[in-house]
Amino acid sequence: MAAASPPPLLLRLLTLALALAGAAAGKISGPRTPISRDIYHPERFIVFQSFGQHGRELITSEVALHLLYILTEKPKIAGVDLSSFEKLLENLVIKVVPMENMNGRKLVEEGELCDRRNGRGVDLNRNWSVDWGMKEKDYDPYEENPGIAPFSEPEAQIMRELSRSFKPHIWVNVHSGMEALFMPYDHKNTTPNGASAQLMRSVLENLNRRHFQDSCLVGSGGGSVGYLAHGTTTDYMYDIAKVPMPFTFEIYGDEKASTDDCFKMFNPVDKKTFDRVINKWCMAFLILFEEGLRNLRDAQIVSQGTLENWVPIGGGIVERNVERKSSRDGRKLEGLDLGMQELRTYFRLFLLSTFLLMFMFCTRISKSRNRQSGSLFDP
Ligand SMILES: [Zn+2]
Repeated sequence: MAAASPPPLLLRLLTLALALAGAAAGKISGPRTPISRDIYHPERFIVFQSFGQHGRELITSEVALHLLYILTEKPKIAGVDLSSFEKLLENLVIKVVPMENMNGRKLVEEGELCDRRNGRGVDLNRNWSVDWGMKEKDYDPYEENPGIAPFSEPEAQIMRELSRSFKPHIWVNVHSGMEALFMPYDHKNTTPNGASAQLMRSVLENLNRRHFQDSCLVGSGGGSVGYLAHGTTTDYMYDIAKVPMPFTFEIYGDEKASTDDCFKMFNPVDKKTFDRVINKWCMAFLILFEEGLRNLRDAQIVSQGTLENWVPIGGGIVERNVERKSSRDGRKLEGLDLGMQELRTYFRLFLLSTFLLMFMFCTRISKSRNRQSGSLFDP
């Protein structure tokens, strides 16, 4: 009896192990798991997203899991027909880290509801090398501990390694605390100059208009959130990793919540709001992918053929031409030109990189901390 054909590969679960033996002594080993480039197709449109970088922002990981569910199983969001996204999704490779800060999340689940840091007390969104360690006058050592050095933290090392190996076109760092669509910079109150910044702004403004009726705050993190943040992931993705479109999205915040109630500040507390946030932001990401791909194609950063030359069955990969193009502001960006497409109908290879425990969101932790939180705003 002939063996059945293997199912198409839609999702791949990748668990990254990190040697933490030296962590207690402050010595961190690099990632031990080799992160191979051959597990994805470099000619695709590539998106890299992280959720749960801050422990107390539990809702973000729920959005991650729901997004993966939609992308792989049930293409519906609250009755919305997603068939118009099918062609886009066929050419998309997305790597999702649904819970970047696993040890910080454990602290929150144990009742430390205001804690945003990792298990070693470091803010993972301050541990990156761009403008690392700079402190503002209102610096809060509890909230914003940048660590003893850039990339002192294993989580940041892993994320940096993933960004190097995966080379995304779009990066999204997903947080909660307010609703906003941010682009670089976080450490300055300005956006970068030049064509790439115009591209990012255009994508965010289109998303804001199409999906949020212009209700979201759009702009640089540093210029919009009310304070400057140094050593952030998104600034590194732009300045060092040269990701064409790095973003930070803030997906939910209850500004009326008491500062004693961190859970309520950063997470919806009723089912209706929870569902609304999940559906709204899953849809937002699909629109982001569509807007991002269109703009990247227009700027010749992603192949024009990525959508038009789609061949559903048969053929082999022929990389006709991979050349470097330089955008007007001189940033080196990789131009990708795709020839024939590859074997099977289902191209969607969803790589799920995870260092996580799944957690049922609805089991709200009852223990509350009486701690004055700094700012509701978060990145
Ligand atoms: Zn955050």
